[in-house]
Amino acid sequence: MKMNQDLKEQIIQYAKKIGIDKIGFTSADPFLELKEILIRHRELGYESGFEEKDLDKRTNPKLSLENAKSIIAIAIAYPSKIVSPPKSTKGEYRGFVSRSAWGLDYHLILHEKLNLLGRYLKELVPSAEYVVMSDTGVLSDHAVAERAGIGWIGKNSLLISPEFGSYVYLGEMVTNISFPEDQPMENQCGDCTRCINACPTQAIVSPYQVNGKQCLSYITQRKDMLEEHWMEKLGNRIYGCDTCQIVCPKNKGINSMHHELTRPNPELAKPLLKPLLTISNKEFKQTWGKTSAAWRGKKTLQRNAIIGLAHFKDESSLPLLKEILEKDKRPMIRQTTAWAIGKIRGQQAKEILESVKFKEKEEKVLAEINKSLKRLANQDIADSPNKK
Ligand code: SF4
Ligand code: SF4
Repeated sequence: MKMNQDLKEQIIQYAKKIGIDKIGFTSADPFLELKEILIRHRELGYESGFEEKDLDKRTNPKLSLENAKSIIAIAIAYPSKIVSPPKSTKGEYRGFVSRSAWGLDYHLILHEKLNLLGRYLKELVPSAEYVVMSDTGVLSDHAVAERAGIGWIGKNSLLISPEFGSYVYLGEMVTNISFPEDQPMENQCGDCTRCINACPTQAIVSPYQVNGKQCLSYITQRKDMLEEHWMEKLGNRIYGCDTCQIVCPKNKGINSMHHELTRPNPELAKPLLKPLLTISNKEFKQTWGKTSAAWRGKKTLQRNAIIGLAHFKDESSLPLLKEILEKDKRPMIRQTTAWAIGKIRGQQAKEILESVKFKEKEEKVLAEINKSLKRLANQDIADSPNKK
């Protein structure tokens, strides 16, 4: 074991050198407790659908690497603040992008570090085998990081490290080399319930249990037409939701700016909503292509931007929304627009909806137009001075 303690030290030193903020080591034993939790989670219908379906693969590292002996968990901190945020200009509304998607796509950042670490391990031990993963891998990054002593899992289900809060990207390497294990950290949430109280959709159904389908982070990434109650809750979220991180006292005062690649481009972290609606595919690829917010495609972000304009009741966007409702080829976008125009309200909104009503061929879009018109008519009655 002495030899592997030395090897572990060498790995830790190399990790520091290549900019890994935290590293921890754990065994490759199955995550039995996690499996029970995941089974229950599935039974309750709390999965978002983005997770690996095979619960054995999710909890047994040996199904990722046959001779697995240990897992090396890593964390890379990302910023929580924009140094020079874009100036607010009257009538120009902006969206919100989750901090985790501010810089270069974190999958790229983590994989580069993990691959460097893997190659280094192989230099030291030529017989070493390894598999690297993060987020889209089969294992639970949070469970691995917790067992490897990187931090504890908070009541919002995010991993919290004392140094960097929950603003960390997590990844891991499963390897056939044994290392002395690190100890898990004590949970430091105490009797705090801020994240549970602040969640706009009550997605944190109980401490440490998040209903993925109800979480706005997942909802911003859905590709289909959103139900009205979700559109009402979305606000100006274009991608992701950080509410349960922003309120967390363990994140207070933490802003890790030391990785250049994680730093935000202010115009993408808080993008103007209207320009997002007219962006070409080429331009989208050039500007958003290297961020993780782009993975669900332009249409998803545009749908959310339209909902954002409705949230701000931005009347100046009505001519643009009219054009979208008349010409956009994507029914889901037209349907969302019909809803948004109705939310913005006013005579102009009514006229737009009336003008497209007889041209729209798609049933669902037409139904949304009629629903918005009905809502506007009811509001007119409610606002009428002669109302009894
Ligand atoms: S990300 Fe937002 S919606 Fe999801 S649990 Fe946290 S506060 Fe709730
Ligand atoms: S807000 Fe409180 S309960 Fe929630 S994760 Fe942070 S410390 Fe834990």
